[in-house]
Amino acid sequence: KNVKKYFPIKTGLFNRVVGQVKAVDDVSFGIRAGETFGLVGESGCGKSTLARVLLNLKNATDGEINFDGRNIAKVGTSELRKLREEMQIIFQDPYGSLNPRFLVKDIIGEPLRIHTKMSAKEIDDRVVELMQLVGLDVTRRNRYPHEFSGGQRQRIGIARAIALNPKFVVADEAVSALDVSVQSQVLNLLKKLQKELGLTYLFIAHGLNVVRHISDRIGVMYLGKMVEVAPTDELFSNPKHPYTKVLLSAIPQATPNRVRERIILEGDVPSPANPPSGCRFHTRCPFAQERCRVEEPKLESMGPDRQVACHFPL
Ligand code: SF4
Ligand code: MG
Repeated sequence: KNVKKYFPIKTGLFNRVVGQVKAVDDVSFGIRAGETFGLVGESGCGKSTLARVLLNLKNATDGEINFDGRNIAKVGTSELRKLREEMQIIFQDPYGSLNPRFLVKDIIGEPLRIHTKMSAKEIDDRVVELMQLVGLDVTRRNRYPHEFSGGQRQRIGIARAIALNPKFVVADEAVSALDVSVQSQVLNLLKKLQKELGLTYLFIAHGLNVVRHISDRIGVMYLGKMVEVAPTDELFSNPKHPYTKVLLSAIPQATPNRVRERIILEGDVPSPANPPSGCRFHTRCPFAQERCRVEEPKLESMGPDRQVACHFPL
Protein backbone atom coordinates (compact mmCIF):
# COMPACT_ATOMS: atom_id res chain seq x y z
CA LYS A 1 0.00 0.00 0.00
CA ASN A 2 1.42 3.35 -1.12
CA VAL A 3 4.91 1.90 -1.43
CA LYS A 4 7.69 4.33 -2.23
CA LYS A 5 11.37 3.77 -2.79
CA TYR A 6 13.47 6.87 -3.34
CA PHE A 7 17.23 6.83 -3.83
CA PRO A 8 19.28 9.92 -3.03
CA ILE A 9 21.41 11.30 -5.86
CA LYS A 10 24.80 12.18 -4.38
CA THR A 11 27.59 14.17 -5.88
CA GLY A 12 31.14 15.33 -5.24
CA LEU A 13 33.68 14.55 -2.61
CA PHE A 14 31.29 15.02 0.30
CA ASN A 15 28.43 13.02 -1.18
CA ARG A 16 26.15 16.00 -1.14
CA VAL A 17 22.56 14.96 -1.84
CA VAL A 18 21.37 16.88 -4.88
CA GLY A 19 18.10 15.13 -5.57
CA GLN A 20 16.35 11.83 -5.48
CA VAL A 21 15.37 9.12 -7.90
CA LYS A 22 11.77 8.13 -7.35
CA ALA A 23 12.27 4.53 -8.45
CA VAL A 24 8.95 3.39 -7.00
CA ASP A 25 6.47 6.16 -6.34
CA ASP A 26 3.28 5.40 -4.44
CA VAL A 27 2.45 1.95 -5.75
CA SER A 28 -0.47 -0.05 -4.33
CA PHE A 29 -1.44 -3.51 -5.52
CA GLY A 30 -2.08 -7.02 -4.28
CA ILE A 31 -0.93 -10.49 -5.25
CA ARG A 32 -3.33 -13.33 -4.43
CA ALA A 33 -2.21 -16.59 -2.91
CA GLY A 34 -1.58 -19.17 -5.62
CA GLU A 35 -1.63 -16.79 -8.55
CA THR A 36 1.06 -15.55 -10.90
CA PHE A 37 1.17 -11.79 -11.06
CA GLY A 38 3.08 -10.55 -14.09
CA LEU A 39 4.86 -7.21 -13.80
CA VAL A 40 5.99 -5.49 -16.99
CA GLY A 41 7.52 -2.22 -18.12
CA GLU A 42 10.66 -0.89 -19.79
CA SER A 43 13.96 -1.31 -17.99
CA GLY A 44 14.40 1.35 -15.34
CA CYS A 45 10.67 1.64 -14.60
CA GLY A 46 11.12 0.33 -11.06
CA LYS A 47 10.03 -3.32 -11.41
CA SER A 48 13.12 -4.85 -9.82
CA THR A 49 13.29 -2.21 -7.11
CA LEU A 50 9.65 -2.84 -6.25
CA ALA A 51 10.33 -6.58 -6.04
CA ARG A 52 13.32 -6.08 -3.74
CA VAL A 53 11.28 -3.83 -1.49
CA LEU A 54 8.48 -6.41 -1.37
CA LEU A 55 11.01 -9.05 -0.36
CA ASN A 56 12.50 -6.78 2.27
CA LEU A 57 15.88 -6.93 0.54
CA LYS A 58 15.63 -3.12 0.40
CA ASN A 59 13.79 -0.91 2.86
CA ALA A 60 10.82 1.01 1.56
CA THR A 61 11.04 4.79 1.86
CA ASP A 62 7.36 4.79 2.74
CA GLY A 63 4.28 2.59 2.57
CA GLU A 64 3.11 -0.71 3.93
CA ILE A 65 3.91 -4.24 2.74
CA ASN A 66 1.73 -7.02 4.07
CA PHE A 67 2.64 -10.65 3.59
CA ASP A 68 0.26 -13.24 4.99
CA GLY A 69 -1.25 -10.60 7.28
CA ARG A 70 2.07 -9.32 8.61
CA ASN A 71 3.54 -5.90 7.86
CA ILE A 72 7.05 -6.95 6.88
CA ALA A 73 8.58 -3.60 7.80
CA LYS A 74 7.50 -4.10 11.40
CA VAL A 75 8.42 -7.72 12.14
CA GLY A 76 11.24 -8.59 14.54
CA THR A 77 14.51 -10.29 13.59
CA SER A 78 13.48 -13.88 14.19
CA GLU A 79 10.23 -13.45 12.30
CA LEU A 80 12.14 -11.72 9.52
CA ARG A 81 14.33 -14.81 9.25
CA LYS A 82 11.23 -16.94 8.81
CA LEU A 83 9.88 -14.50 6.25
CA ARG A 84 13.11 -14.75 4.28
CA GLU A 85 12.54 -18.49 4.02
CA GLU A 86 9.00 -17.99 2.78
CA MET A 87 9.92 -15.39 0.14
CA GLN A 88 12.55 -16.20 -2.46
CA ILE A 89 13.90 -14.73 -5.69
CA ILE A 90 15.14 -16.17 -8.95
CA PHE A 91 17.51 -13.74 -10.63
CA GLN A 92 17.80 -12.69 -14.23
CA ASP A 93 21.30 -13.75 -14.97
CA PRO A 94 21.92 -17.48 -14.60
CA TYR A 95 25.62 -16.79 -15.20
CA GLY A 96 26.17 -14.01 -12.72
CA SER A 97 23.95 -15.25 -9.89
CA LEU A 98 25.69 -18.60 -9.36
CA ASN A 99 29.06 -18.59 -7.62
CA PRO A 100 31.47 -20.12 -10.18
CA ARG A 101 33.68 -21.60 -7.44
CA PHE A 102 30.83 -23.52 -5.80
CA LEU A 103 29.78 -27.01 -6.79
CA VAL A 104 26.19 -27.19 -7.95
CA LYS A 105 25.19 -29.24 -4.91
CA ASP A 106 26.64 -26.55 -2.65
CA ILE A 107 24.81 -23.78 -4.50
CA ILE A 108 21.46 -25.56 -4.21
CA GLY A 109 22.17 -26.64 -0.64
CA GLU A 110 23.36 -23.23 0.57
CA PRO A 111 19.97 -21.99 1.87
CA LEU A 112 19.57 -25.29 3.73
CA ARG A 113 22.94 -24.84 5.45
CA ILE A 114 22.13 -21.25 6.40
CA HIS A 115 18.51 -21.64 7.48
CA THR A 116 18.17 -25.20 8.78
CA LYS A 117 19.94 -27.60 11.10
CA MET A 118 19.95 -30.40 8.55
CA SER A 119 22.91 -32.78 8.52
CA ALA A 120 25.21 -33.05 5.50
CA LYS A 121 23.47 -36.29 4.51
CA GLU A 122 20.01 -34.74 4.82
CA ILE A 123 21.13 -31.78 2.75
CA ASP A 124 22.51 -34.06 0.06
CA ASP A 125 19.24 -36.01 -0.06
CA ARG A 126 17.28 -32.79 -0.34
CA VAL A 127 19.59 -31.52 -3.10
CA VAL A 128 18.96 -34.73 -5.07
CA GLU A 129 15.22 -34.31 -4.58
CA LEU A 130 15.38 -30.67 -5.70
CA MET A 131 17.46 -31.48 -8.78
CA GLN A 132 14.89 -34.11 -9.76
CA LEU A 133 12.07 -31.62 -9.23
CA VAL A 134 13.62 -29.10 -11.63
CA GLY A 135 14.73 -31.68 -14.20
CA LEU A 136 18.47 -31.70 -13.61
CA ASP A 137 20.71 -34.77 -13.85
CA VAL A 138 21.52 -35.58 -10.21
CA THR A 139 24.72 -37.39 -11.14
CA ARG A 140 26.12 -33.98 -12.13
CA ARG A 141 25.76 -32.39 -8.71
CA ASN A 142 29.52 -32.44 -8.11
CA ARG A 143 30.14 -30.17 -11.06
CA TYR A 144 30.54 -26.41 -11.43
CA PRO A 145 27.97 -24.01 -12.92
CA HIS A 146 30.04 -23.35 -16.07
CA GLU A 147 29.56 -27.00 -17.05
CA PHE A 148 25.83 -26.38 -17.47
CA SER A 149 23.88 -24.65 -20.25
CA GLY A 150 22.01 -21.38 -19.70
CA GLY A 151 18.68 -23.14 -19.25
CA GLN A 152 20.20 -25.67 -16.85
CA ARG A 153 21.80 -22.88 -14.82
CA GLN A 154 18.43 -21.23 -14.49
CA ARG A 155 17.09 -24.58 -13.23
CA ILE A 156 19.88 -24.53 -10.64
CA GLY A 157 18.74 -21.04 -9.59
CA ILE A 158 15.16 -22.29 -9.34
CA ALA A 159 16.17 -25.34 -7.27
CA ARG A 160 18.00 -23.03 -4.87
CA ALA A 161 14.98 -20.70 -4.67
CA ILE A 162 12.57 -23.50 -3.74
CA ALA A 163 14.95 -25.34 -1.37
CA LEU A 164 13.30 -23.94 1.76
CA ASN A 165 9.70 -24.54 0.60
CA PRO A 166 8.84 -20.87 0.07
CA LYS A 167 5.28 -19.61 -0.39
CA PHE A 168 6.16 -16.66 -2.59
CA VAL A 169 8.76 -16.58 -5.34
CA VAL A 170 9.81 -13.58 -7.41
CA ALA A 171 11.16 -14.38 -10.85
CA ASP A 172 13.02 -11.24 -11.92
CA GLU A 173 13.57 -11.48 -15.68
CA ALA A 174 14.22 -15.16 -14.97
CA VAL A 175 13.95 -16.23 -18.61
CA SER A 176 14.98 -13.02 -20.37
CA ALA A 177 18.55 -14.14 -21.03
CA LEU A 178 17.50 -17.48 -22.52
CA ASP A 179 16.71 -18.57 -26.10
CA VAL A 180 13.01 -18.64 -26.91
CA SER A 181 12.76 -22.45 -26.93
CA VAL A 182 14.61 -22.71 -23.62
CA GLN A 183 12.41 -19.90 -22.26
CA SER A 184 9.27 -21.96 -22.77
CA GLN A 185 10.85 -24.99 -21.08
CA VAL A 186 11.69 -22.93 -18.01
CA LEU A 187 8.22 -21.32 -18.02
CA ASN A 188 6.65 -24.79 -18.13
CA LEU A 189 8.86 -25.87 -15.25
CA LEU A 190 7.77 -22.84 -13.21
CA LYS A 191 4.11 -23.66 -13.92
CA LYS A 192 4.62 -27.28 -12.91
CA LEU A 193 6.33 -26.28 -9.67
CA GLN A 194 3.56 -23.81 -8.90
CA LYS A 195 0.98 -26.59 -9.14
CA GLU A 196 2.99 -29.14 -7.17
CA LEU A 197 4.24 -26.82 -4.44
CA GLY A 198 1.38 -24.31 -4.25
CA LEU A 199 3.64 -21.36 -5.03
CA THR A 200 2.64 -17.76 -5.60
CA TYR A 201 4.70 -15.92 -8.21
CA LEU A 202 5.60 -12.37 -9.02
CA PHE A 203 6.89 -12.74 -12.54
CA ILE A 204 8.84 -9.76 -13.87
CA ALA A 205 9.69 -9.14 -17.53
CA HIS A 206 10.17 -6.10 -19.75
CA GLY A 207 7.87 -7.43 -22.48
CA LEU A 208 4.29 -8.63 -22.40
CA ASN A 209 4.80 -11.70 -24.59
CA VAL A 210 6.91 -13.45 -21.95
CA VAL A 211 4.45 -12.91 -19.08
CA ARG A 212 1.36 -13.71 -21.14
CA HIS A 213 1.37 -17.49 -20.84
CA ILE A 214 2.26 -17.69 -17.19
CA SER A 215 0.35 -14.79 -15.59
CA ASP A 216 -3.18 -14.77 -14.19
CA ARG A 217 -3.06 -11.00 -13.87
CA ILE A 218 -0.64 -8.39 -15.12
CA GLY A 219 0.49 -5.04 -13.77
CA VAL A 220 2.08 -2.49 -16.09
CA MET A 221 4.61 -0.02 -14.69
CA TYR A 222 5.86 3.21 -16.17
CA LEU A 223 8.48 5.42 -14.48
CA GLY A 224 7.87 4.20 -10.95
CA LYS A 225 4.07 4.10 -11.24
CA MET A 226 1.60 1.28 -11.71
CA VAL A 227 -0.48 2.40 -14.67
CA GLU A 228 -2.75 -0.59 -15.29
CA VAL A 229 -3.69 -3.85 -13.56
CA ALA A 230 -5.92 -6.40 -15.29
CA PRO A 231 -6.53 -10.11 -15.80
CA THR A 232 -4.19 -11.31 -18.57
CA ASP A 233 -6.88 -12.02 -21.19
CA GLU A 234 -8.53 -8.66 -20.68
CA LEU A 235 -5.27 -6.79 -20.78
CA PHE A 236 -4.49 -8.35 -24.15
CA SER A 237 -7.95 -8.07 -25.68
CA ASN A 238 -8.87 -4.67 -24.29
CA PRO A 239 -5.97 -2.58 -22.99
CA LYS A 240 -7.22 0.58 -21.29
CA HIS A 241 -4.00 2.49 -20.72
CA PRO A 242 -2.24 3.99 -23.76
CA TYR A 243 1.12 2.67 -22.54
CA THR A 244 -0.25 -0.87 -22.33
CA LYS A 245 -1.48 -0.49 -25.89
CA VAL A 246 1.99 0.60 -26.95
CA LEU A 247 3.60 -2.42 -25.27
CA LEU A 248 1.05 -4.71 -26.96
CA SER A 249 1.72 -3.19 -30.35
CA ALA A 250 5.38 -4.18 -30.00
CA ILE A 251 4.53 -7.90 -29.92
CA PRO A 252 4.94 -9.58 -33.31
CA GLN A 253 1.67 -11.03 -34.59
CA ALA A 254 1.30 -14.71 -35.42
CA THR A 255 -1.66 -14.07 -37.73
CA PRO A 256 -0.67 -11.60 -40.46
CA ASN A 257 -4.26 -10.82 -41.49
CA ARG A 258 -4.88 -9.34 -38.07
CA VAL A 259 -1.92 -7.02 -38.08
CA ARG A 260 -1.84 -4.79 -35.06
CA GLU A 261 -0.68 -1.30 -35.82
CA ARG A 262 2.73 -0.81 -34.31
CA ILE A 263 2.89 2.32 -32.20
CA ILE A 264 6.36 3.79 -31.99
CA LEU A 265 6.99 5.91 -28.94
CA GLU A 266 8.78 9.17 -29.44
CA GLY A 267 11.70 10.08 -27.25
CA ASP A 268 13.45 8.15 -24.52
CA VAL A 269 12.09 7.21 -21.15
CA PRO A 270 12.34 10.40 -19.06
CA SER A 271 14.63 10.31 -16.02
CA PRO A 272 12.96 9.08 -12.82
CA ALA A 273 15.03 11.76 -11.05
CA ASN A 274 13.04 14.38 -12.88
CA PRO A 275 9.78 12.82 -14.02
CA PRO A 276 7.33 14.80 -16.18
CA SER A 277 4.57 16.75 -14.44
CA GLY A 278 1.00 15.46 -14.37
CA CYS A 279 0.82 12.07 -16.06
CA ARG A 280 4.39 10.80 -16.33
CA PHE A 281 3.58 9.32 -19.72
CA HIS A 282 2.36 12.58 -21.24
CA THR A 283 5.66 13.39 -22.97
CA ARG A 284 5.30 10.22 -25.07
CA CYS A 285 1.59 9.46 -25.05
CA PRO A 286 -0.12 9.61 -28.46
CA PHE A 287 -3.39 10.54 -26.72
CA ALA A 288 -2.10 13.25 -24.36
CA GLN A 289 -4.20 16.36 -23.79
CA GLU A 290 -3.65 19.54 -21.81
CA ARG A 291 -5.06 18.08 -18.58
CA CYS A 292 -2.44 15.31 -18.68
CA ARG A 293 0.37 17.86 -18.31
CA VAL A 294 -0.94 19.27 -15.07
CA GLU A 295 -2.96 16.63 -13.27
CA GLU A 296 -1.61 13.28 -12.19
CA PRO A 297 -4.04 10.43 -12.88
CA LYS A 298 -4.64 8.07 -9.95
CA LEU A 299 -4.88 4.31 -10.32
CA GLU A 300 -8.63 3.83 -10.23
CA SER A 301 -11.07 0.96 -10.55
CA MET A 302 -12.58 0.45 -13.98
CA GLY A 303 -14.90 -2.48 -13.73
CA PRO A 304 -14.32 -5.63 -11.71
CA ASP A 305 -10.68 -6.54 -11.23
CA ARG A 306 -9.37 -3.74 -13.46
CA GLN A 307 -7.49 -0.62 -12.52
CA VAL A 308 -6.18 2.13 -14.77
CA ALA A 309 -4.31 5.38 -14.15
CA CYS A 310 -5.30 7.58 -17.09
CA HIS A 311 -7.55 10.61 -17.59
CA PHE A 312 -8.67 9.32 -20.98
CA PRO A 313 -8.64 5.53 -20.82
CA LEU A 314 -9.13 3.68 -24.11
FE1 SF4 B 1 -1.97 9.59 -22.01
FE2 SF4 B 1 -3.17 11.51 -20.63
FE3 SF4 B 1 -3.78 8.98 -20.18
FE4 SF4 B 1 -1.43 9.94 -19.43
S1 SF4 B 1 -3.43 10.56 -18.65
S2 SF4 B 1 -1.81 8.02 -20.46
S3 SF4 B 1 -0.98 11.35 -21.08
S4 SF4 B 1 -4.12 10.12 -22.10
MG1 MG C 1 15.22 -5.18 -13.64
